[in-house]
Amino acid sequence: MKFNLIFTFCFITSMIWLFNLMGIPFINALSNPPRHLNREWSLPPVKQGDWSETLRSFDVEEGEEAKSVAVLMYHRILADEDIETWHYDENGQLYDTIVHRQAFEEQIDYLAEQGYVTLNLKEFEQFINGALDVPEKSVLITFDDGFKDNYTVAYPILKRHDFFATIFLITGKVVSEDALYLSEEDIIAGADVFEYQSHTDRLHERTEADIPYLLTHDHREVESDVLISVNKLGGRKRAFAYPYGEYDQANLTVLNNVGVDLAFTVEYKKADQEVNRLEIPRIGVYPDDTIEEFILKLK
Ligand SMILES: [Zn+2]
Repeated sequence: MKFNLIFTFCFITSMIWLFNLMGIPFINALSNPPRHLNREWSLPPVKQGDWSETLRSFDVEEGEEAKSVAVLMYHRILADEDIETWHYDENGQLYDTIVHRQAFEEQIDYLAEQGYVTLNLKEFEQFINGALDVPEKSVLITFDDGFKDNYTVAYPILKRHDFFATIFLITGKVVSEDALYLSEEDIIAGADVFEYQSHTDRLHERTEADIPYLLTHDHREVESDVLISVNKLGGRKRAFAYPYGEYDQANLTVLNNVGVDLAFTVEYKKADQEVNRLEIPRIGVYPDDTIEEFILKLK
């Protein structure tokens, strides 16, 4: 009897050991989803010499340098055939976060025809610090949340003109084979046009009372979330975008502690050298903007 017990114990122990050796987490497999679904991802750190680390020397004549730069904010770019009923709100209006592909194409073509330069974040930061003169026709293009259409729809349009843009990723939404958000593979494939920064890891939510999590969570929770996000981004912390553009004093302290250089809000105003580097205004581009309205946003 005693022998049988010892034998059974040894048998079970060795089976667990064997399964683990084969890469099958014996116990975990019973309670957790398959490994590939909850595998954490992270980007390799930015390499020296990457376009996002390179400052171009713009040939700017005395007095011709930009005094302010428009920072444009987009979310989703959708082709007409991909727009479905759930993309409209209860008043039958397309959600603010969606821009038609045709309109986006027209806007980007306009920037190219007019000779606009799309800054990278490093150049933009140097401009804000007064360390780099950039042309009057400079713009910073940003996308929030990290939707898949940024790669499938916006990327080829930007690429055609050798334009750059920044995507603020909700890093907790990045999983493989997701239909709505960018996957790790999309992120890597788009890295010659897009640079990636944080839009939180899991705090891009609102409470039942409609208050953004960044305003209701303890500063330690916010800091830990931002650190997780930055870590997944391979240490990228040149910029951060506040979910819904809302923030408080405690958030500014957290970003300072983490060492984030620039943080972006939403406000119809161009960014100049007077702005607080953690409260940089961005101008939203919306579904019913005409090209004339878009042009006004650049002025
Ligand atoms: Zn967002």
